[in-house]
Amino acid sequence: MPGLTTIPGVTQVKVRACSARELLDQTMSLPQEAFQWHMLSNDPLYERYSDEQRREIIALAAGVGQKYADEVLALGGDLDDVLGHYDIAYDEQSKPLSADRVVFAQYVEPNAVTVFTDTLDKYQRYSECQDNEHDMSRDAVREVLIAHELFHYLEHRDERSIVTKNYKTTTHRAGPLRLRSRVAAMSEIAAMSFAKGWLGLDYSPNVYDVLLVRLYEPDAATMILDNIREVYQDNNPQAIKAV
Ligand SMILES: [Zn+2]
Repeated sequence: MPGLTTIPGVTQVKVRACSARELLDQTMSLPQEAFQWHMLSNDPLYERYSDEQRREIIALAAGVGQKYADEVLALGGDLDDVLGHYDIAYDEQSKPLSADRVVFAQYVEPNAVTVFTDTLDKYQRYSECQDNEHDMSRDAVREVLIAHELFHYLEHRDERSIVTKNYKTTTHRAGPLRLRSRVAAMSEIAAMSFAKGWLGLDYSPNVYDVLLVRLYEPDAATMILDNIREVYQDNNPQAIKAV
């Protein structure tokens, strides 16, 4: 049906055309919390968390991301120095070999980080991002992608103790029984908090999740933006009336 996209199990969503400028402005106007709620809403067990649990998960994940950012900032040095310090095998490739979905960057245990430059090259089409008041250059995006993956390396290093890999919360109750589950989305929330803190960004690095998707699937980018706002507003009704 033209203009309509059906998401399985969800009502039909009207997709509106969104220019790069519109997408950039609207995405940049959202606070980091909006993206955190959205990342949490992608968790497979999201519906099972209470409002109180959701807020605790976000706070813990954002907190540990910032804590690790402080650790890396204390090292001093530039990005290359930091990668050297952790003995990260960094490389760039044009595209992932198995291209069944778009991947911007990846971490492979124990210490390999790859950035896929095809996305960065396409990103340079956005003149809106090149002469922005913030540094949203190709290299700024590359640094965000690396920072995100570096956090996954640090999580792997500290997998026995880090909260993102060890926190469990009650998700099922049956009589006296309680089933406690890990929260998969914590890693992503923490990785973005880490990237923001380490790189000292005064905007959310999650804006690239939307902007980079638009390079491949313009409608999907608009849907993600709408979804971020919807999830944030549902959970924080007073927060973004004006956005
Ligand atoms: Zn990740």
